[in-house]
Amino acid sequence: MAGLYGKNSKETRNFLDPIFGSYSSDHALPKYQLNEKPVEPRIAYRIVKDQLLDEGNARENLATFCQTYMEPNATKLMAETMDKNAIDKSEYPRTAELENRCVNIIANLWHAQPAENYMGTSTVGSSEACMLGGLAMKFAWRERAKKLGLDIHAHKPNLVISSGYQVCWEKFATYFDIELRTVPMDEQHQSLNMEKVMDYVDEYTIGIVGIMGITYTGRYDNIAKLNDLVEAYNKTTPYKVYIHVDAASGGFYAPFMEPDIKWDFQLKNVVSINSSGHKYGLVYPGIGWVLWRDKQFLPDKLIFKVSYLGGELPTMAINFSRSASQIIGQYYNFVRFGFDGYKEIQKRTHDVAVFLSNEIAKLGHFEIVNDGSELPIVCYKHKADDGVAWTLYDLADRLRMKGWQVPAYPLPKNLDNVEVQRIVCRADFGMNMAHDFIEDMKRAIDELNNSHIVSHQRVELKKYGFTH
Ligand SMILES: *Cc1c(COP(=O)(O)O)cnc(C)c1O
Repeated sequence: MAGLYGKNSKETRNFLDPIFGSYSSDHALPKYQLNEKPVEPRIAYRIVKDQLLDEGNARENLATFCQTYMEPNATKLMAETMDKNAIDKSEYPRTAELENRCVNIIANLWHAQPAENYMGTSTVGSSEACMLGGLAMKFAWRERAKKLGLDIHAHKPNLVISSGYQVCWEKFATYFDIELRTVPMDEQHQSLNMEKVMDYVDEYTIGIVGIMGITYTGRYDNIAKLNDLVEAYNKTTPYKVYIHVDAASGGFYAPFMEPDIKWDFQLKNVVSINSSGHKYGLVYPGIGWVLWRDKQFLPDKLIFKVSYLGGELPTMAINFSRSASQIIGQYYNFVRFGFDGYKEIQKRTHDVAVFLSNEIAKLGHFEIVNDGSELPIVCYKHKADDGVAWTLYDLADRLRMKGWQVPAYPLPKNLDNVEVQRIVCRADFGMNMAHDFIEDMKRAIDELNNSHIVSHQRVELKKYGFTH
């Protein structure tokens, strides 16, 4: 996550590069202000590259859903197209056409209905896509509510979602002044609670978000069931509600792995869907997508016209300029892999997750919370009666010594007494690496069993990132 930075008190002026024999390598460079004179490209490259040397190996980062590998041909193509500005449709009409093809390919994958007019766009990632999906719901709700004569200022509009939501929804609620109504998850309901969800809905509800792949556990919300509940609810009231599916992780996974699950535009009340191209769409960050099943769910007010070759092209985005190379990378993947290629890659990733889950269960210390059968992520907790002094946080530390990043963290509210460790399997985490990982895990546990564990009173100091 991009940070927020402020005044730096550790100012040093001694930022010397150890490459000798050049004029610039003999000069101190300030870290926190511009150097006065330029530096030769070779030296500048070395300085920056060296600065990043010990950042760890992204491929061993099992914390993230984001892609850490693309083929050389894809990388080449993306490097060659980095200069293209995605918003500049008049300068780059061919690039715009590739984006258009991607939207159509995705609409097809998500079963857009032939009688309707789907629309969609690329975004920086799912966060921007969720903002746009949320805004469309807010604007559409306002139009419907006004027509019905509701006093739209009497209460804050609300959005209903399970407590397993990703942080982008909290941002959406804060930025756009929406009450986030969270349906708690508990031991029996580790995804959206279908018995309770409709209790949270009223005439100020702009929509319900279903999650295809809860970030914490990898579980899918039961969108088909939610669709039925919404269908029944809508028969009882003029204040209709609709569903947005946050399929950041599942949108490019479920269509290949579980084509029989109904979660997309096959369901009447699902009006919009987002997904991250940089998760199981297999592109480097940042690219996301958001699609509406029909124009009627995307209010005109949210569409802006940008002049395009003498005509006008509608756009919808929070961002303006950004590189088109990720869009081109996405299109490359679609062409390169096709349906069967994606399916094979996801299947292999799934097999790795199931293998890990079985092996970890055999170690005897853990109870499996998620076995990789939905999203290919493996989640486990420490057995209560394990009788060892070490915690999942200690294990995470140990694994880190081998370069593996495997976060440990508490589940969301109401389940936060449960601490889990999570492994996200991605396309570039092959079976050979999984074998190595299990070996390293066994060694780490042996080491911990034979250690004298001290401290770690303040467990909160040891939490690692997991929300991506
Ligand atoms: C990752 C994720 C997001 C945010 O996606 P970005 O592409 O990183 O902006 C939103 N929702 C869910 C469920 C996610 O898993």
